[in-house]
Amino acid sequence: MKQLDIYTVVQIFILIRLVCTAVLLFLWIKYGNRYLGIRDMALSFGLTAIALILFLFADQLSVFAGLALPNILVLVGICTFGIGVLTFAEAAVHKKELIAYVAIFVCVMSYFTYNQFSVRYIMLISSSFTIPVYIYIIWQLHWRTSTFYRTFTASVQWVACGFVLMHMMRVGWLLYCHPVLNYHGDCDNTQTLLFALSQVLTLLLAFAIEHMIANKRAHEAYNETKTLAIQLEKKEALASTDALTGIYNRRKIESLIREQHHILVSAGTAFSVLLIDVDHFKNVNDQYGHTAGDAVLRHLSQCIRDNIRGFDDVGRWGGEEFLVLLPNAALDEARKTAERLRRIVSDNAYTQLPELTLTISIGVIEASSAMSIDETLKRVDQMLYSAKANGRNSVFSGNAEVLTSVSGVD
Ligand code: GH3
Ligand code: MG
Ligand code: MG
Repeated sequence: MKQLDIYTVVQIFILIRLVCTAVLLFLWIKYGNRYLGIRDMALSFGLTAIALILFLFADQLSVFAGLALPNILVLVGICTFGIGVLTFAEAAVHKKELIAYVAIFVCVMSYFTYNQFSVRYIMLISSSFTIPVYIYIIWQLHWRTSTFYRTFTASVQWVACGFVLMHMMRVGWLLYCHPVLNYHGDCDNTQTLLFALSQVLTLLLAFAIEHMIANKRAHEAYNETKTLAIQLEKKEALASTDALTGIYNRRKIESLIREQHHILVSAGTAFSVLLIDVDHFKNVNDQYGHTAGDAVLRHLSQCIRDNIRGFDDVGRWGGEEFLVLLPNAALDEARKTAERLRRIVSDNAYTQLPELTLTISIGVIEASSAMSIDETLKRVDQMLYSAKANGRNSVFSGNAEVLTSVSGVD
């Protein structure tokens, strides 16, 4: 492997860190007000870039400023990254403990800088102190966050594991290979490899952070869409429901008739329509009051709903008029349904007002593809009118071509 000049390595390193810092600053500007922690993550990359710039000018600086301080800044950067990512993932952040940890590191670093100086020791201390911080971050992200964040931060956790391994390799190499190190000359093979690994991990970390933010955004967008869809569904249901009775309103039942008519024209599937009107309903209001009249309407709409097939539809057509749509039903079946409804209403007393005689008149028609919807509705209205004229409490039926009449009066 080609050995790299340490200055070249550091310069590449600085470039990578600066690019990552710029990317994260951009993400912070974009999402900082929505998501916490991005600023700290950007800051951590910035701090390590500064550390490397100091290291680049180590020759012109004191040993502390050129070697110990950059290592301190790197550790502070990793801690800041931890604070950022844990804040983002809504996990507990032990700031005081981290500060104390950095303070201990500063003391150890200072001691070895001024008393037992060796580049190898400095690197050894630096890596040994870094490993627990990464483990702490992984631990908190994996075991101290919700499943939601555990999944979202998986890529960051993997990269952090990579850093732990890299630093462990570095510690092993420093302990067992006793490399002769200075910070002016060329790197040896292992050092080059570890540097390269570290750069790759840094880049991966920036991608992982971006991925983590994108995951959260995608999840939020999905949730927002879901909430909107539920709201829309509720609004649609509200817009198609009659406020008094809870059954469909006229607009909705009209649209269902249009759908059925379309099926009739395209597939020839029959459908029929019942128009129901309460007999002498005005008297109910006059005798018992409007509120009691409302209750009667609610009772009737429920009664109709309970006595038609599951896939039939009923809507409030007007004041005390209901329209029943019977898909897949020819005139004969529709007539039977109408007759059954008429009987149920007239035979069963309304328990709230037992003395009230409640009856309904029903017009029935089977739709035909030769007849427009308006015409169908006009015809069924005529049927209803005939039922009223026939003395009420009756069913009148017909189809498009021939108007036949069947009196339902017993
Ligand atoms: P017919 O047998 O000819 O249908 O007689 P009717 O009294 O039922 O018919 P009419 O059209 O004269 O009266 C309908 C009444 O329905 C008048 C109106 O006050 C009442 N009505 C309409 N909508 C409502 C409502 O929402 N609540 C109540 N309580 N009454 C209503
Ligand atoms: Mg009426
Ligand atoms: Mg009426």
